[in-house]
Order: sequence, then structure tokens, then C-alpha cells
Amino acid sequence: MTGETAGKPLLITNVKPMAFGAAAPSGTTDILVGADGQIAAIGSSLAAPADASRIDAKGAWMSPGWVDLHVHIWHGGTDISIRPSECGAERGVTTLVDAGSAGEANFHGFREYIIEPSRERIKAFLNLGSIGLVACNRVAELRDIRDIDLDRILECYAQNSEHIVGLKVRASHVITGSWGVTPVKLGKKIAKILKIPMMVHVGEPPALYDEVLEILGPGDVVTHCFNGKAGSSIMEDEDLFNLAERCAGEGIRLDIGHGGASFSFKVAEDAIARGLLPFSISTDLHGHSMNFPVWDLATTMSKLLSVGMPFARIVEAVTHAPASVIKLSMEHRLSIGARADFTIFDLVDADLEATDSNGDVSRLQTLFEPRYTVIGPEAITASRYIPRARKLVRHSHGYSWR
Ligand SMILES: [Zn+2]
Repeated sequence: MTGETAGKPLLITNVKPMAFGAAAPSGTTDILVGADGQIAAIGSSLAAPADASRIDAKGAWMSPGWVDLHVHIWHGGTDISIRPSECGAERGVTTLVDAGSAGEANFHGFREYIIEPSRERIKAFLNLGSIGLVACNRVAELRDIRDIDLDRILECYAQNSEHIVGLKVRASHVITGSWGVTPVKLGKKIAKILKIPMMVHVGEPPALYDEVLEILGPGDVVTHCFNGKAGSSIMEDEDLFNLAERCAGEGIRLDIGHGGASFSFKVAEDAIARGLLPFSISTDLHGHSMNFPVWDLATTMSKLLSVGMPFARIVEAVTHAPASVIKLSMEHRLSIGARADFTIFDLVDADLEATDSNGDVSRLQTLFEPRYTVIGPEAITASRYIPRARKLVRHSHGYSWR
């Protein structure tokens, strides 16, 4: 149905709204979206104009449009990024947040070639390193202080403040060598000047996850929160777990950022069993994580469901929670005159083998299955990603599955 419904009114029948607040109808309802993309009527057995497109949701859930807080979509400007269309509306996602693919040196291209033409709403964390992820991990963006240009970052933000929602720092030795925590401190200083949050990637120390948490403040985001890397897992060091729990209570946002190397079933299961839930669920989708092991946001949500995170909290973690990070209003999303921005999805029984970033396998018994994404008057058919057959790829350090 891609594109076919644009420019005409849209009647959505038989949806079960959730996560719209107490005023939303309980049980199933119909929604009429005008040709202008605004909600024209809500109620049962709605009449629609003769030219209206119609979709029957057959009792599926409908939430505010899903937000993926960590993706890489500077396709063509970096060697690692996928296209927004590969992880957006066709996967049930209406808002994509690029996590530092672009730095100040190439943000203008990201804006012109990716943000402006895309159907999905796109926001970005600006990389602290000038070059962003041009040649990701081959030419690291934060080797030493020559890679950061404070004046140009401030200027880039001034010119793009409607697109840039925060600053991104990848704080692990693969990128920063032995530079340690200094880039995180510099990033925090700039984020304070700009009054925007900082998202920090934790991984191979240095910097230590512990040190990063000590620098961050309320509103900042630590991504890859449940990684299973030696020296960076919150479950291998009781002091770190306690610190993470305290910081989460103080308003530091723990974000999943699954990715190719940064989500462990075991860490997630143990943390959730102890009551520490992630604030937001994101994929860290890019060219090296999509086909294996991430696939998409719906599968990542299903993985969190399988390790004990409650259904309603999962929906919260892809709607209200990430929206609050990027200052996207979720108020009155289901009211007359609001622009339609919805994800329609089912929970279905399954028996699907899924893998985390450590190679641990779990069988998912229940899957989030997106059916339609509604962006204004357009209803786009959505589904989970079906991975291609895996390929063993030879590279300079050995072999890996792609
Ligand atoms: Zn990433």
C-alpha cells in the first residue's frame, strides 16, 4: 500500500489504541484521517468520504508512531549506514534518530540528502568528532584533540538546531585508543553550552562505563546499556550495577542500542529480574548489524519481551520515552486535529530463533508484528525484516558473519 493512500482521506477501522493516555477510547475504534493528514473523527462505525482509502486493522493495537533512538542512516556519506527506508515506515517506525553518523564536517550533506527527502521524521545526535562515521572504526572519529572543533560544532548546531537533538560520543578504546574519558568530558561541556543531551556509547574500556556515568547528568543517554562486553557489563561488577541503578533513578537514560556487539540476553534478563529496566529500546541498526543479529526494532522489542520486560513498558520504551529525549510531543496524539502518526501492530505467537550480540540464542515465543505505519494520510504496509541468508565474510582481522 506504500504511497497509494497519500492525498486521500484514510479510514482506519478496528484498532485498539494504547499509550495515548486516559482520554483515549478503550476497546476497538475507528479513526478517520483527512486528506490533510489530520485526524478528522474518532469513534465506532465511522462514515468515510467515497474517495477514502480504507484499512481494516482487525483488532490490532495502535500506538503513537514508534521512535528508534539509535540508528545509522547517513547512507552514502558513511560506509556503515543503511537507508532510512530500510528501518523506517516499512518496519513500523515513524521517527528515526541517527546516533552520530554525521559530524560537523558533513552534517549539511546528511540534512540535504537524508533528512529532507525522507518520509520518516529524522533527528540526529551530532558526533563530537568532526568526521562522524565516514570510515567507521577504520578511521576513528576521536583519536585526539585535533578531531574535535568546538567552534565549528557550535556553528553547526546554530545552523541545524531543528534537526540536532544532542551530541554523540563513542567512548571505547576501539575509537579513542588510550585517550580515556577526556572526550566524554569535552562532549559534556559542549552539551551543557548548547543545553542539549549527550548520548554516550559504552563498550571496550577505557573509558570505563563507571566513569561515563559519573560525568553524565539527568537527560543524558547511555547507549549499549546491557552490553555483555568484558569490563563493560553491569552484571559483572556489583558497584557498577548499583551506580547504574542510582543514575537511572536520577534521570540518566539507559538505552538498549542493540547493534552488532552491544546487547546480551543474559545481562538484560538479570538486570530486569533485579528491577532495572531500560528507559528506551533502540536498535543501533547499520550495515553490519541489520542482517545479523538485530533485524529491526520489532524483533528487538520481542527480545526484551522474552527476557521479562512487560508489554506496556516496551511500548513506552519506543514511544513516550525516546520522544522525551528528542523533545517530540506525545500529547494529544489521538485527538481531532492532531497529525496522524501511528504504528498498528499485533502480538503474535511464534517459535523463532534469535541471537544476541554475544552469539547467545533464545527462542522467541511472542513477536511484535507491525502491520501498518500511518504518517499523515498515508498508510504504509509494515512487517518485520526477513534477514538474508548469512554470509561468512573475510576481512583484515579474520572472518565474521554478515
Ligand atoms: Zn551506533
